[in-house]
Amino acid sequence: MALTITNLSKTYPNGVRALKNVSLTVGSGMFGLLGPNGAGKSSLMRTVATLQEPDAGAIQLDGIDVLKQKDDVRRVLGYLPQEFGVYPKMSAIDMLTHLAILKGITGAGERKTMVEALLQQTNLWDVRKKALSTYSGGMKQRFGIAQALLANPRLIIVDEPTAGLDPAERNRFLNLLSSIGRDVTVILSTHIVDDVLELCPRMAIIAQGEMLLEGSPSECLATLQGQIWSHVLSSDDELKAIEAELKVVSSHLVAGQHEIRVFAPTKPGPAYESVPTELEDVYFLTVARHSVN
Ligand code: ADP
Repeated sequence: MALTITNLSKTYPNGVRALKNVSLTVGSGMFGLLGPNGAGKSSLMRTVATLQEPDAGAIQLDGIDVLKQKDDVRRVLGYLPQEFGVYPKMSAIDMLTHLAILKGITGAGERKTMVEALLQQTNLWDVRKKALSTYSGGMKQRFGIAQALLANPRLIIVDEPTAGLDPAERNRFLNLLSSIGRDVTVILSTHIVDDVLELCPRMAIIAQGEMLLEGSPSECLATLQGQIWSHVLSSDDELKAIEAELKVVSSHLVAGQHEIRVFAPTKPGPAYESVPTELEDVYFLTVARHSVN
């Protein structure tokens, strides 16, 4: 399974250039599309999911021309949009059965087997008869995955699925995503660096409609190896002075003390300690460098 996006551009009628000449190749397995809010992730995902048209560019999914053969795409696509609406009074099992019919799974026996298996897989079996309106955020998202998996899709798109989940729900959701077969392609769009770090062997960073970096997390980390330094601040005023001279990547409180991470090609001073690069550093610097340009 290969998805190839070539020179995709989109400007909305209000003048916002949401996608600027975006190219990207996504193979089998989990792919992380990382970018801040407003980066263009949903615009890109909706376009791949055949829900909106680009102004220019092409998308190929194996032999399918995504922008022209929309029905062919929809047959192999599972999509969990950012805003996933359900009929709140319906139970999970009824809703999933209804969606299975819409997906064209017409055989009653096949449909029942598939719906039941998906409810088991997403750990919703015990609550399958409860109204979806009573579900927690994590349960709703797992239901979202159940519907995305209907009819054995080969490409699954999940748009910002962990935003708003508590740590336990997020964990359960990420475990579920990672359990989806390796021969399908899963694109996980997110602004949460740890989602990508935990799940995705390949990733890309997008900001302001432009694709900025693509590779494995370790390739992305290698771009900054040996250039991240940590330093414990002696006072709050010190931070301002450092910011005037150095690129401060992040600042954390550690046991009540402010610890900063800075980017510098060489050791900035005796009080700085070399630390391993984290994906968060790469993400922050990639996005920050771009917004300066
Ligand atoms: P992300 O999913 O990364 O948050 P979006 O694709 O939702 O990014 O948005 C990219 C940019 O396009 C943002 O500036 C957003 O406000 C704008 N945008 C998104 N959808 C529309 C729309 N339907 N009409 C006008 N502007 C839009």
